[in-house]
Amino acid sequence: MPAAHHRITALTFDLDDTLWDVWPVVERAEMLLHEWLAARYPRIPARFSTLELRALCGEVAATCPQMAHDRTWLRKEALRLAARLAEYREFDVEGAFAVFFIARNAVEPFAEVRPTLQRLGQRYRLATLSNGNADLRLIGLDDLFVFSLNAIEIGAAKPDAPMFIEACRRLAARPEQIVHVGDDPEHDVRGAADAGLRTVWLNRNGRAWPGGPTADAEIRDLSELDALLADWDAERA
Ligand SMILES: [Mg+2]
Repeated sequence: MPAAHHRITALTFDLDDTLWDVWPVVERAEMLLHEWLAARYPRIPARFSTLELRALCGEVAATCPQMAHDRTWLRKEALRLAARLAEYREFDVEGAFAVFFIARNAVEPFAEVRPTLQRLGQRYRLATLSNGNADLRLIGLDDLFVFSLNAIEIGAAKPDAPMFIEACRRLAARPEQIVHVGDDPEHDVRGAADAGLRTVWLNRNGRAWPGGPTADAEIRDLSELDALLADWDAERA
């Protein structure tokens, strides 16, 4: 348990795999993109499977590490590369990405997300910090948060400090007054702890902690936050 001399005023949340399962949605989005390509640029899916197209994003990231935080740019650049390798001189990259992006945002938040965040939003300011390119307006959760930051607009991904620093600035709070909640031990727990925030590891599947300093608390779903935050508030008394 951390020393609790600061009243908690705000909570920040990771998105993918914290508020919803992301991989089923990404796989479906990649499949729909593949079908769209097959109808318009058939040499691309003939040459690259969905997994090979995904791997191209990784190759682009490796050659352009300064852009690795921008998953939208990586997807588009990988598609442009695939089109060149398949010898298309003209390619509608925006059309292709739109097919992926709309499907990628067809996520289903976990059942407890909206009721829990509505409740917590009455006591704390809520914001989101994501390395991905989810669009909360498309998903229909944007009303729950005072703002949402992602790696693309910040220019750096978690676990690096800039996204956490910007969150503190926009929340007008000291790091100790903010609790960050996320599923990723490195991006969310280590990143937020390094920036001085309190940390909650959301471990929905009962994974073992991978090692290194542990989070200030561990929960199985968001509904455990009410009791946890009440405990931390009581410690100040
Ligand atoms: Mg996550």
